[in-house]
Amino acid sequence: MASLQPVRGTHDILPDEIRRHRHIAAAGLRVAEGYGYGEMATPIFEFSEVFSRTLGDSSDIVTKEMYSFEDRSGDAITLRPEGTAGIVRALISGGLSQHLPLKVFYQGPMFRYERPQKGRLRQFHQMGVELLGVAEPIGDIEVIAMAAQVLSELGILGATTLELNSIGDTESRTAYRKALVDYLSAYREKLSKDSLARLERNPLRILDSKDAADRKILEKAPLLSDYLNAESAEIFAAVCAGLDRLGVAYQLNPRLVRGLDYYCHAAFEFTSETLGAQGTVLAGGRYDSLVATMGGPDTPGTGWAAGIDRMALMLKDMPMEKRPVAVIPVSSSMEAEALRLSQELRHDGFAVDLGYRGNLSKRLKRANKLSAAAAVLLGEDEMAKGSVTLRDLDTGEQEVIALKNLQARLSAFH
Ligand code: ATP
Ligand code: MG
Repeated sequence: MASLQPVRGTHDILPDEIRRHRHIAAAGLRVAEGYGYGEMATPIFEFSEVFSRTLGDSSDIVTKEMYSFEDRSGDAITLRPEGTAGIVRALISGGLSQHLPLKVFYQGPMFRYERPQKGRLRQFHQMGVELLGVAEPIGDIEVIAMAAQVLSELGILGATTLELNSIGDTESRTAYRKALVDYLSAYREKLSKDSLARLERNPLRILDSKDAADRKILEKAPLLSDYLNAESAEIFAAVCAGLDRLGVAYQLNPRLVRGLDYYCHAAFEFTSETLGAQGTVLAGGRYDSLVATMGGPDTPGTGWAAGIDRMALMLKDMPMEKRPVAVIPVSSSMEAEALRLSQELRHDGFAVDLGYRGNLSKRLKRANKLSAAAAVLLGEDEMAKGSVTLRDLDTGEQEVIALKNLQARLSAFH
């Protein structure tokens, strides 16, 4: 029955995957807190205008990807496709601009109506940071260094490349846009349909095209870096110098643009070859005009967002933080005692699995499957003497141990 399937592009996140998600988000928050950022959560849905105004009418998200609906009072509502717009809305509506710089970390589900494939979902998860109120290049340097540190702590920095570009200020982009449109206009017949549509509305986005014919045409297209005015070039040089000083490795990619209209100056992506077609793990950049565009006080901003689901695909096997202990009654007369002892150990802070049913070998099999560190075997005769058998499930070694020493002995297994 179709209605009992999860909606296309969504899936149930089972314990093993969610442990990865939590591990990733916890690393993000820990690193961000080390830079003085605090976690903030905006609502998962907002008035549609929050996104349509900020993301720009010609962005893919607004034209094709939003999950929008009318609620019972007739308000136009959209499930958030990304995190920045909500935070900027909160800055304005909550008067947070009295407290600049605003340094926030966020994480949670995002929703986009996209064509599902590996690493591309309709409900996916992002974590990200925003730094509002800092126009200086040190802000860009800080958020990029923070991103590198998060990936490093997750053990996946080495599998990524930091690509960096400047999309300059408005003057530089206007000059470049003209040069690009002049160049591409000669290829109108050969451009993909999508790119042709963008030629008028948002020509910079064509640089992002995955279409093979487009890519060929783009090989000889003018480069944004040749059109940066002196001020933009100086700002970008400062960002690069700061990253050099911190030892953050990057590659300049003159074709890197961000999908949204509000970006300026430094733009960056951490990409990975290990993810196939959906190779961008983390992406961000500076957005100095966004707050004003939304009707707030002129406030510069920079930040990034990372795809938690994509990062989870890159994580190596993750050991359980707390390996369980299996408590196994050897005979049925010991069931009640096993339940009591399990409860006691749980109160002492151990993770305890009580096999519920089955003989000794069946329960040991289950314990191994759960990668339990140890099994506590309760036999009638031993219990009469106040002892149990403790089996190390990694080595198979067994020892008889007095119940009163069990807790201390088990602690050595963690
Ligand atoms: P793409 O080019 O892959 O569509 P994007 O430019 O739309 O990416 P951003 O809006 O910058 O992506 O989002 C930041 C990150 O969030 C991406 O780099 C990616 O890791 C993740 N992400 C974006 N869309 C999805 C999705 N539909 N499913 C899973 N992860 C996603
Ligand atoms: Mg996208």
